[in-house]
Amino acid sequence: MARKKKEKTVKTSGPVKTQENHKVKPYDLGIISRNAKTVIVNAMIETTGQVRFGDGTEVNLTITEKDLIPTSDGKFVEKVVFAGSKRRGVDRRTIHALRNQVLSQNGTEPFEQCYIPQLCRKCPTCWLLGATAMGEGYNIKSRILYGSSYSIEPSELAVQPHSRNMVDEKRHTTAGEAGIHTEEFIKAGVHFPTITILERVVDWEIGVFAHALLENVNQNKYTAASRSQGGVKFTEVDAIGQCIIIDESPIGMFPLPTPKIGADKTNLYEALEVYKDSLDLEKIKEKFEVQCFKVDYGKTDGVEDKTTLLIQVNSSILYKIKCTENEGKLEVFQCVRKEKKDEAEDITKSEEGKPILEHEYKLIQTRYYGERALGYIREKQYEWKSFLETFNSQRWTDTNNEILKRIGPSKAEKASEKGLEKPATKEEPVSGEESD
Ligand SMILES: [Zn+2]
Repeated sequence: MARKKKEKTVKTSGPVKTQENHKVKPYDLGIISRNAKTVIVNAMIETTGQVRFGDGTEVNLTITEKDLIPTSDGKFVEKVVFAGSKRRGVDRRTIHALRNQVLSQNGTEPFEQCYIPQLCRKCPTCWLLGATAMGEGYNIKSRILYGSSYSIEPSELAVQPHSRNMVDEKRHTTAGEAGIHTEEFIKAGVHFPTITILERVVDWEIGVFAHALLENVNQNKYTAASRSQGGVKFTEVDAIGQCIIIDESPIGMFPLPTPKIGADKTNLYEALEVYKDSLDLEKIKEKFEVQCFKVDYGKTDGVEDKTTLLIQVNSSILYKIKCTENEGKLEVFQCVRKEKKDEAEDITKSEEGKPILEHEYKLIQTRYYGERALGYIREKQYEWKSFLETFNSQRWTDTNNEILKRIGPSKAEKASEKGLEKPATKEEPVSGEESD
């Protein structure tokens, strides 16, 4: 098949050889890369002062988005919502800002015509964060999935109405009815467990999200109307440090699931235990054992090694989990049994005379936590900035064509021939991005 296609191109497009000589390698991009990974970023975000995430603005009352959550005893608990779409909208603005600034300094096309809601569907951020065509043409599905988060604390504890009195400067009285304004604020010390999934991404793409997360927390941008003292931070927890747990897998397989807090849970202490347990080898051991695996600690020179777990079924090892506490990471290896040409010859015997099959370990999941996780996202943020600083427009155009060629030519090519040049595309709104 592939050969046939190649012949066809040679016939129709003439001097392919010279073209090939000048061809620059396309950019590495998750959707077309063999090195794409899946990353799960789990972070507990905490308010540090009065903040508002914003839902709708009525004349007098600014409502904080809330939901009723059923509890196991048949009742309900009301929680504050930190919507994923809100987080996504704020992140995208921050991402566009850096893209435009660095690219214009770099002297290349800054994609300034691509902004919410008029997304261009051909720039690096559109291919990562998605863009929708309302009429003709192709849609890009976002590879960064933002989950909505419920506060740990019930809204009766987390939210406070706040009356504001606008004083008439001359008369020193309340400036009429419009001067009285009631707002709802989320108090300080309210916790939101957030999860974001980055599907099929390469390092600079991880950095796009990393930049947004770091800077939006740092600069309090997630809050719509933060008061002077308002803002957010990563919760700090004993034994973890900053409450961030990042899982990375080269194949999108995670034997250690990311810690999740039930929406009906209202106890912060218990919630933080869930995070701690996800890093504790003893607890991990128990979890695999209740799933009917046999789990042993590893051995070095006959001595039990408490930093390694071996997950087994029928005395063969499936996974090895290694914890390097002072490096802030856990590694999960899959045991891959090697195929042998001559089984009888190759099998070595253990001390008890049992055969030991040849095998090797393949890293399939790395879990970074605390300060190390923060270091991971900071390092990726640098990758994204470097990507922009060395950005080459021609090379990007080639990459763009390569993507369009690979993602179903009929739809995409049609769109790139007609749709993208039409000014009409500029008016196509993109749903799902929320403004603050
Ligand atoms: Zn774009």
